[in-house]
Amino acid sequence: MRHSIPTDCIAWLASCEIARADALTLPGPSFAAIVTLGTIAIAGLFMAFLQQRRAAAALARARFFEHHEVMTGLFNRPHFLDVLRGAMTRRRPHEHIAVFAIDLEGVRDVNDLLGNAAGDTIIRLTARALERVSGSNAIVARLSGDNFAVARLGLRNVQDAASFAATLLEAISQPQRLNGHEVMLSARIGVALAPGDSEEAAHLLKAAGLALDRACLGTGSGFTLFEKSFERALQERRELEVKIRETLEKGGFDLHFQPLFRAGSNRLAGFEALLRMPDGQGGFIPPVKFIPVAEEMGLIVEIGDWVLRRACMLAAHWPDHLSIAVNLSPAQFSAGHMSRRVRDALGESGLRADRLELEITEGLILKDDASILGELRTLKALGVAIVLDDFGTGYSSLSYLWKFPFDKIKIDRSFTDALDGEDRQVVEVLQAIMSLGRSLRLRITAEGVETGAQASFLKSLGCDEVQGYYFGRPMPVDQVALTILADAARALSDATASAPAARLAAAG
Ligand code: C2E
Ligand code: CA
Ligand code: CA
Repeated sequence: MRHSIPTDCIAWLASCEIARADALTLPGPSFAAIVTLGTIAIAGLFMAFLQQRRAAAALARARFFEHHEVMTGLFNRPHFLDVLRGAMTRRRPHEHIAVFAIDLEGVRDVNDLLGNAAGDTIIRLTARALERVSGSNAIVARLSGDNFAVARLGLRNVQDAASFAATLLEAISQPQRLNGHEVMLSARIGVALAPGDSEEAAHLLKAAGLALDRACLGTGSGFTLFEKSFERALQERRELEVKIRETLEKGGFDLHFQPLFRAGSNRLAGFEALLRMPDGQGGFIPPVKFIPVAEEMGLIVEIGDWVLRRACMLAAHWPDHLSIAVNLSPAQFSAGHMSRRVRDALGESGLRADRLELEITEGLILKDDASILGELRTLKALGVAIVLDDFGTGYSSLSYLWKFPFDKIKIDRSFTDALDGEDRQVVEVLQAIMSLGRSLRLRITAEGVETGAQASFLKSLGCDEVQGYYFGRPMPVDQVALTILADAARALSDATASAPAARLAAAG
């Protein structure tokens, strides 16, 4: 429908125009001025109205983001806890509330392969999926990066919580299409329940986080229910961290040395330096317990430097046919300058490079990092020997032998142990390793030799060196001299015993 302007309205407008023209010639407060002032006043009022609306919208937005997370619009951590707190106070006695701490797996791959915008999209899609499956009787939050939390109210029991965790996992792992690619995430979930695990919101979320840490130790998707022992483990872990830091600051670490013998001649070949951390009660905290923690704390670099320098310094005073083996953590390589650290330790101590053996594990080679392989080559060029430790424990150990020209492999203790068992396959595997080692011109050490029977069998297979409690336990430095002397005495008596026979042979 067309609107026509009424004729009386046109007449009125025309009269206004005339009045405006007249006003220009009239003295005093003119009509034009009144009209202009009126227009300004209306415009001012309109502007003020607009500003007020904008301010109100900005305030509402600010209020929203006080409680919500920017990218997904889900609750943020403080608001999640506030709402959860409220829900927990209203919880009826027979009801359970479960908190699910969720860690997405695969977002980094999406970022790397499809770009950060795609990573953001997949996080938003996951947020919507979590909201959808959680329904109205739940609180959903994004805590950080790819960490979410869901609190589900009104559950009957722990089975309900477990089946909801499975529902969340399934929702997260639904394939999504992004930029023409099909993307599938997985997740790990930690679950904690009120009232059993905690009756306080922040503590319940923390408990779910601890359960999540456990879930993350496994592989693939999955969920873990909180157990009280997780808190004890965390407490022990904190105490161990404090002890490690204190031991380092006080110079309390020590080295023990375990002898290695040449299989053919039974002569001492050298020692392996093994780190010792006093437990404060006359014993030691096992390295397998504290070294991974020192690695995670980033302290293994400093500790490892100390081990290297101390081992080289002591070995420089031993007879110069004896070697010293030092274990290196992958973290020491990641920190960089490994070859410079080794060069410095050799320079400071005056130890000949070919007397130092560096033991690394396949984890380092597995990284397939060009800079690490470069460092290993530089180290080899210095003249130190590179040893592959714990050989045979990994997934595809044989392939590592082609990646880097090792000087020696140390067959893991588990093979030596298995010799006492029923499984005859271990013998075939050992034979295969020996022949491979020979064709690659690698020296082979068998470790963990505890009995004479194991020792003679390993020698018969063709091991070059043997190490284990049967030959000598790790010992403090003051016993090293005795072991060296005992070896020299044995060598002397062997020589004198064989001398008459040699003379007879020569005379004959
Ligand atoms: P590893 O390098 O395989 O060291 C051999 C471990 O086996 C040592 O345990 C040693 O005491 C033990 N062992 C030796 N012979 C026998 C035997 O006949 N029977 C049995 N049952 N055990 C034997 P330790 O000293 O507890 O060291 C454990 C691990 O800690 C080492 O395994 C190594 O991976 C790590 N480690 C030790 N010192 C250092 C270090 O200075 N730096 C780094 N990065 N790791 C170290
Ligand atoms: Ca070792
Ligand atoms: Ca080993």
